[in-house]
Amino acid sequence: MKKLLVLLAMVAFGLAVPFIGNKHIVTKNPSHLDIDGNFILYDFQKTNRVGGGPDWDYNLKPVKISERVYCFFGERDMPTKNNAGSMSNICYIKGDTEWIAWDSGPSDLFAKQAYATIKKIADMPVKHEFISHEHDDHWLGNHYFKETFGTHIIGPHSINVNYYGPRLHVKDEGHPGATGEVKDYPGMQTRMIKALYQNAIRGTILLPVDESPTKHSTWYNISGVKMEYVEAGYAHSEDDYFLYLPDDKVILVGDLVMNGRVTSNRDGQVLAINDEGKPEGQIPAIDMIKRRDWNNIVPGHGFLVDKHGADEAYHYFHEMKDDVLEAIDDDVPQGEITKVVTLEDFRDKDLYYLLSPGNVYRAYEELEMYEEPDEDED
Ligand SMILES: [Zn+2]
Repeated sequence: MKKLLVLLAMVAFGLAVPFIGNKHIVTKNPSHLDIDGNFILYDFQKTNRVGGGPDWDYNLKPVKISERVYCFFGERDMPTKNNAGSMSNICYIKGDTEWIAWDSGPSDLFAKQAYATIKKIADMPVKHEFISHEHDDHWLGNHYFKETFGTHIIGPHSINVNYYGPRLHVKDEGHPGATGEVKDYPGMQTRMIKALYQNAIRGTILLPVDESPTKHSTWYNISGVKMEYVEAGYAHSEDDYFLYLPDDKVILVGDLVMNGRVTSNRDGQVLAINDEGKPEGQIPAIDMIKRRDWNNIVPGHGFLVDKHGADEAYHYFHEMKDDVLEAIDDDVPQGEITKVVTLEDFRDKDLYYLLSPGNVYRAYEELEMYEEPDEDED
């Protein structure tokens, strides 16, 4: 009996140790402190977060893709505190007298640190930026470019609508409701603004885009670089674009293509017939990309940049479509679909367990309405 009491006392002491050690630590709101004692913001707040401590070091190294294209490759992961949002691929195109940016990354500091390494290759300003889509791991560095170079930002109008429209009067000529007035409302909420340490997200201010082409394909010739900026439409997000450089045989495709990891189709669609009777979605978007002549592709996430860089995305969406349609035909209910359609070929890809079931579930919802067109359209 005595032995048992001693044993129980020891167990109780063991359980109490973590609390004994910490009892003198008092924080008013511990969930709002990051590792540097900076705040992590989960509430809407209109002030820009400044914080203390040294800037986050993204440790960025540009990779040369072709003669004029350099890219930074992010981790194949979700935005986490350990990558500070550096999980997407961002590129710079070397013109004769300026750099052209393809996306700007997850924060002001990311853009600043990426540019500092690019400047060592050629000391030229960033006068133009093209944006792939509205997800915030791709464009939160815009303010750094704008403030530093007065960069002209070309991107989807959905950024202005979804991140500014209801909350802010945007200097946004040519669109209904534009007032020509800009209210200083920095640090608006996106995933990154909420999730990153202050010493990574500090100084990040959301900026609307300056120009949104509405044609399917728009050609630019900037600083000696010929580029086709193509609106693929509602595919990975509400409005996706890719940038094709025919002279360089390079295509920059944002999140329309990923490799080595499973995509997130939470805001996207696989294949639908749009109001104009044309197919729109991930499958037609990848077809548009495959129709161009290129040697190198830079996906929004992933490291494969050769001629096979788009294959994985192509197979993922085709298999998903075929398997889900077959399951619908077999009267598999939506609640069972992720047990039936498991896309085995992709099980070893990063983020498979986190994202693939959600993609399949969503595809079911979407493809239930789908009717195969009678003739093949091109
Ligand atoms: Zn995205």
